[in-house]
Amino acid sequence: MPQKTKNTPMMEQYLAIKEQYKDAFLFYRLGDFYEMFYDDAIKGSQVLELTLTSRNRNADDPIPMCGIPHHAAQGYIDTLIDKGYKVAICEQVEDPKTTKGMVKREVTQLITPGTFMDAKALEAKENNYLTAVIQEGDQFGFAYVDLSTGELKTTILQDEESVVNECSSLQTKELVLGSDVSQVLCELLKQRLDLVFSVQKEQEETAEFAFLTSQIEAMLELNVLKTLLTYLNATQKRSLGHIQQAIVYEPKHYLKMDHYSKFNLELAQSIRTGKKQGTLLWLLDETKTAMGGRLLKQWLDRPLIHEHKIRSRQDMVESLLKAFFERIDLQESLKSVYDLERLAGRVAFGTVNGRDLIQLKTSLEQIPKIRQILEGINKGEWQTLLKDMDPVTDIVKLVATAIQEEAPLSITEGNLIKTGYNEQLDRYRDAMANGKQWIAELEAKEKVETGIKNLKIGFNRVFGYFIEITKSNLRTLPEGRYERKQTLANAERFITPELKETERLILEAEEKSQELEYHLFLEVREKIKTQIGRLQKLAKSIAVVDVLQSFATVSERYHYVRPTMTSNSHNLQLIEGRHPVVEKVMGQQEYIPNSVSMEPNNAILLITGPNMSGKSTYMRQLALTVVMAQMGCFVPAESADLPIFDQIFTRIGASDDLISGQSTFMVEMMEANQALRHASENSLILFDEIGRGTATYDGMALAQAIIEYIHKNVKAKTLFSTHYHELTALEDELEGLMNVHVGAVEKNGEVVFLHKMMEGPADKSYGIHVAKLAGLPDNLLSRAATILSSLEAGEITLLKEVSAEIPKQMEATKTKSEPAEQVAQLSLFSEISPKEQDILEQVKAMNV
Ligand code: ADP
Repeated sequence: MPQKTKNTPMMEQYLAIKEQYKDAFLFYRLGDFYEMFYDDAIKGSQVLELTLTSRNRNADDPIPMCGIPHHAAQGYIDTLIDKGYKVAICEQVEDPKTTKGMVKREVTQLITPGTFMDAKALEAKENNYLTAVIQEGDQFGFAYVDLSTGELKTTILQDEESVVNECSSLQTKELVLGSDVSQVLCELLKQRLDLVFSVQKEQEETAEFAFLTSQIEAMLELNVLKTLLTYLNATQKRSLGHIQQAIVYEPKHYLKMDHYSKFNLELAQSIRTGKKQGTLLWLLDETKTAMGGRLLKQWLDRPLIHEHKIRSRQDMVESLLKAFFERIDLQESLKSVYDLERLAGRVAFGTVNGRDLIQLKTSLEQIPKIRQILEGINKGEWQTLLKDMDPVTDIVKLVATAIQEEAPLSITEGNLIKTGYNEQLDRYRDAMANGKQWIAELEAKEKVETGIKNLKIGFNRVFGYFIEITKSNLRTLPEGRYERKQTLANAERFITPELKETERLILEAEEKSQELEYHLFLEVREKIKTQIGRLQKLAKSIAVVDVLQSFATVSERYHYVRPTMTSNSHNLQLIEGRHPVVEKVMGQQEYIPNSVSMEPNNAILLITGPNMSGKSTYMRQLALTVVMAQMGCFVPAESADLPIFDQIFTRIGASDDLISGQSTFMVEMMEANQALRHASENSLILFDEIGRGTATYDGMALAQAIIEYIHKNVKAKTLFSTHYHELTALEDELEGLMNVHVGAVEKNGEVVFLHKMMEGPADKSYGIHVAKLAGLPDNLLSRAATILSSLEAGEITLLKEVSAEIPKQMEATKTKSEPAEQVAQLSLFSEISPKEQDILEQVKAMNV
């Protein structure tokens, strides 16, 4: 910022502070306002729609400025954070009344998208994660925290792709990068993810760190936690007493799905809208609490792979499913449980008010009821959870005796603490009440003595208590009875020394009681703060109960069944399965169930069928069923025997990766690559129309090679849909491959898709069939039939021979599928000469 004229001391102070917070909007406190200057003001006025003014309008170089009232700041902060900016709050840290010269100012908090705590602006059912990554050689230390709930986790990741995947599935809002992170990773992250980047420079540890990381052994994890916690410390500048001890997690202990697969399967985000509506999360979410909502999303991101853990969840779901009335009662109780995790966070952060504590109490009061319900249905499956469900009665009692039920929002204006809680406070309140009583009596007495019926005693902030007499009654007032204080248009106001003395007593009592109430409130808050660990533990168990009741509710509503899950089995028998979301949208009557049967020697299903017949719905149905089952939920089917999968890979159409600007075909190949390189025998692969994005032969060749590779090397359970009919011949060559197709029938001159999977390949002449129905000329149709049979006759050889012959067309049509097919096919047709054609037709006509 070039300066011509010399800055005032205040601007010097501003610039010095701003220098340390270059990447944030600096909210500089001036009296009752937060001011922004220079570029902050210009940009801030645009983003927040504020009027841009300037500080020294008449100077040669006026300083751009805009301001917001400090009491309305939260809304503006919310807007800036929501748009991905950071806001540094700079307060006056000395009392201007008692300071000579410049008031000292300091940044008291740096609010960033990953450290946002505002209860109103946070999505209740979503976590708000701040993540840190450091690199050591080719390993990555990874840690994340949700400041609002205190969750702190860490792990070691082995490659860049995993770092991107973790960030993306956590939907982390902000990423703190260690200085050692390679350029490759930085680029990859910036390209793939839409989040705020921050850097932590100096390492300054506090005693809290040692406690939070006491369970951690690996150096890399310790270091990344330090990076994360130092950043928190440096930005929040206050106690982080609610942050929980760091827990190590291993991504490989959960069903692994990469970024693409989660997106393709629409687990939590719809492909079209990016919203929750229409996703598996939307279907499964019958949770009643915010904590339950967040946990459900976490479970969806990390389904289990350990049989006993899955079974334990299933047992609890089953017991709730059987207990209909108890479940209704349970839901009712859960509805009254507020966000215990975030309440606990705000207790530590020092931002709770009286109402929050009442909410805390109301929530805790539900716990005995919830316990009782679960104890009633418990046959052993709830034992562990019940152990963690401490009703924290001491806090209930404390809040019940200390805090007014109708507590105000403010904690400094009194009416917060119950009478009977503190003797001194009661005394002040007595004094206030007595004073007010005395004033009421004085008013009655003066009315009688002066004979003025409408004499009244009023109060305002400027003059305090006064006696008011209307102009018309003034002449009856004995001269000198009161002291004149103020003249209004139609009344006079008076005081007396006794009235002023009483007023002093009342106001003093009021002020002192407010002060005392504030201190008592802080004391209560501190007492609760010491019990935060218990509240968090309780919150966790309530969240689990809530998710499980949600599973039971959904399973009952849509008639799901408990799947049999076996870890080392390779058999999969899904009988009459359904796609849960499509079924919910279209209704159970309309949906045609389909079975999936796979065995070790039958691990690849090759699905053929026309467009819109239900191929991809069938594939997604299986993947969603697997995810639901491994989360511990029941599944949409008549019965289900499932192996436990370690990973799911998908390549399903319509996910053009527009953000990263890559072509559809490139994305397709990248996704295929992920699967082929990382899938194991225990994985599930869904490939929908692989190879479609390039020229026909090119694509078909790749598709065949991919299938062969999976069959020989990967051995994962695979659903492969294709419109390359030629590939169905692979059934003869590959032992583990089976053809299935989607049935269609002709009904009243129209083709109707049955959406029903059947064994064997699809009818080859299906397209010609449709063309006939559409009324195309007869001789054209017979010509098409001829071409088809000649193509069929040479299908596999064609595959081998022609792929090398058409590089030119491939060049021209690398990314667009449709023209590529047309061009390639035209050239094929011309390979049959009219003479050959003639002979072929004669041969066909013969009756052999
Ligand atoms: P494809 O992948 O073969 O092009 P889709 O799986 O996208 O076809 O299905 C096309 C449409 O058919 C879906 O949007 C859905 O409305 C309907 N559909 C698919 N499967 C079924 C089913 N099993 N029962 C009823 N309708 C279905």
